[in-house]
Parts: sequence; C-alpha cells; structure tokens
Amino acid sequence: MSKKLIYLDNNSTTPCDPRVIDAMVPYFYDLHGNAASRSHPFGWRSEEAVDYAREQIANLIQVDPKEIIFTSGATESDNLALKGVFEMYSRKGNHIITLSTEHKAVLDSCKKIEKMGGEVTYLSVDGKGRVDLAELENAITDKTIMISIMWANNETGVIQDMKAIGEICAKHGVLFMSDATQAVGKIPVFPKEVGVHLMAFTAHKMYGPKGVGALFVNRKNPRVKVTSQLDGGGHERGMRSGTLNVPGIVGFGKAAEIAGKEMQEEAIRLAKLRDRLESALCEQLEETYINGDDKNRMPHVTNISFKHVEGEGLMMTFNQEIGVSSGSACTSASLEPSYVLIALGLGDDLAHSSIRFSLGRFTTEEEIDYTINEIVRGVNHMRNLSPIWEMYKEGVDLDSIEWAEH
Ligand SMILES: *Cc1c(COP(=O)(O)O)cnc(C)c1O
Repeated sequence: MSKKLIYLDNNSTTPCDPRVIDAMVPYFYDLHGNAASRSHPFGWRSEEAVDYAREQIANLIQVDPKEIIFTSGATESDNLALKGVFEMYSRKGNHIITLSTEHKAVLDSCKKIEKMGGEVTYLSVDGKGRVDLAELENAITDKTIMISIMWANNETGVIQDMKAIGEICAKHGVLFMSDATQAVGKIPVFPKEVGVHLMAFTAHKMYGPKGVGALFVNRKNPRVKVTSQLDGGGHERGMRSGTLNVPGIVGFGKAAEIAGKEMQEEAIRLAKLRDRLESALCEQLEETYINGDDKNRMPHVTNISFKHVEGEGLMMTFNQEIGVSSGSACTSASLEPSYVLIALGLGDDLAHSSIRFSLGRFTTEEEIDYTINEIVRGVNHMRNLSPIWEMYKEGVDLDSIEWAEH
C-alpha cells in the first residue's frame, strides 16, 4: 500500500460527505440571500432552504421542526442549554446535575454557572463509564432544575441508559438535557422517546460542515424555554440571534437526510471493522485492554490501552500516516491523562497508554488491516525499547517499586 493518510479520528470531526458539499455549493453563489430578508426573493429562497433543512434534521430525531434552534455548533448548543435554562428557571432552583465525564463544553459551562451562583453536582461513573442510577436519583434535591447527561461519550463511545435517566427526570419533574453530539446520525436518537427535553448536536460529527449545530428544545409537555445567550435580531424565535449560516444549515440538513437513510447499514459495517481491529490487536499484543463498556457503546469507536507504552510515543511511530487520538491531553505545561479515562478508574499509566480509534463512513477494510500492522509493529517497537517492559517480562512486580518523584 502506498503512503496514504488513514483517518481514524472521526470523533474529532468527520469529513464532509461529497453529497453534502454538492447541496451547499449553490448557496454560496446565486442563492446567497439572508434568510431573514423578508422583502425579496433572495431572502425567501434562503428561508425556504433553511425551513427544508430544519425538517430534514427534525425528521432524523423525530421532533417538530419548530423545536430546532440553529447554532454555531455543539459547544454553543451546550452553553445555550445549560446557561439558558439556569437563567430561565432561576426562580425554581439553582442546582444542576451532570457527569464528570462530560465534554468540556458542558463542564466549563457548569463551572461558569457555579460562578454565577449555581450549584452543580458532578457525578462519577462506574468502571464501564456508566452513571449509577440510584446515585443519580439520590443527588436530586428540591433545588434541582436540570440533569445534563451525554448520550454517548466522545472518548470511549459509551452510551448511557437514556430511557432510565429520562424516567428519573420525569418522576422528579426535572429537565433532562443531553449532549448527543456523538450519537446523532450514527445510532437512532429520539429525544422524545426517552424524555430528553433539550439536546445538543453538531453537523461536523455527522459528515456535515463545521461551524453549524443545533439545540432541540421541547415545546410541549413541558414547554421548555431558554434565556438567549446571544442577543441581536431576534432570530430563531428570540433564542439565538445572528444571521443564519444558510449554506452550512443546508449541508447539515443534507447530512441528516443521508444519515437517516444509511446509518443502520453503516453502523453494522463499522462495528464489524471495529471488532476486526480490536480482536486482531488483542490477539497479537499482550497486556492490551479495551476501555469502556463493550455492550453499551457506539459501533465505530474503540479506546484501547497498550500497557507500558506511551500513547503519544506510539503515535509518533506512525503519526505521519494514521490519524488517531491518544488518552493524553496537552495542557500548557504537561501531558495530562484523559479525565474521562481516569473517571473510569484507569491509573495514569493506562490512561497515558491509550489510543482512541474512531472509524467513519469512508474507512475501508484495507485501512483497518494496515492500521493493525502498524500498531502491532509500533507497540512491539516501543516495548522492545522499554526497560519497564523488560522488567515486566522478567516477572518483576512493578507495583512494588517505589519510583522517584519527577
Ligand atoms: C465535538 C463535541 C462537542 C463540540 O462540538 P462543536 O460543534 O465542535 O462545538 C461537544 N460535545 C461533544 C460530545 C463532542 O464530541
């Protein structure tokens, strides 16, 4: 195989589907109107295109098009849902419950809410990455206004028990918000079926363009309202002002339509490739662990720790060819282990030795086979150089060694 780049980082962003690009292009040319221009055909056509996209997206998640608010992405949708509900429902209470494994867009919004006088409970998860339902219910107080729990985790692909959480929220009269960015367009996601009242998602994780997202806000039973965080022309029924990104929204709509038609088959194909990758790596490499919940998870993601191998170092052995993510996050001064993997109970070393592979629509079997070979070669190479691996092979109990502080 020639030196071709292999992209296995689809949880970071997906490439645009060519059919999405084709749908968008006219809206950069003749169809360039502002969807809020009510007085001429340029505006009308753009408004029609936005309405159509809104229907395509609403169809995918089986909600009313009026319940879709367009934003600049899931980060903005998360901010709008959390801060918007916190402000709107301040007379009812000031307490929000979320998970320690949420995306930073949720966690940092919650941090801001705490600064604004809110109270936030950050629940931990079990070894598989799932929330304990009894613990969740126990955390609810008479001040709780909302529970925010992601549908599927971006690092591990672990899916929460949405139906059970929705029942708890309904029982206690608490709003249920979900960041479903990693689930929409890949598995069936129907917020109304599980009692989700607000839901954030984004086009660029489902083969649409970057910079356009949506927030679903339930309109009936209960009628949910959010306080706008961007004020201006009163677009999106006053909840999110700003000229709509018409080409982006058209692309988002097309991406939703394609996903609705193809996701079932795509999920089966990707799960097979994912399983092929996992079983080959686990067979060919000892001390290899799959992180998360092998039952409740997305079909296209696997997060694997290769013990005694630094993920970042491993990536350097093939980084110019294969795009994946490691379980280490570069902060300003140091490499921090992923807080998501730490919350699952992994030690720093196993978190640092993890790699996330996220497959996508354009991943081929040939690419997976090539990746298997490269990973096996890379891990063996790193371990052969590692004094720790040598000690492990000689039977030294590594846990009994007291390492010097560094
Ligand atoms: C990517 C991602 C986001 C952020 O989405 P943007 O559209 O890039 O702002 C939020 N939440 C989750 C779970 C994500 O994976």
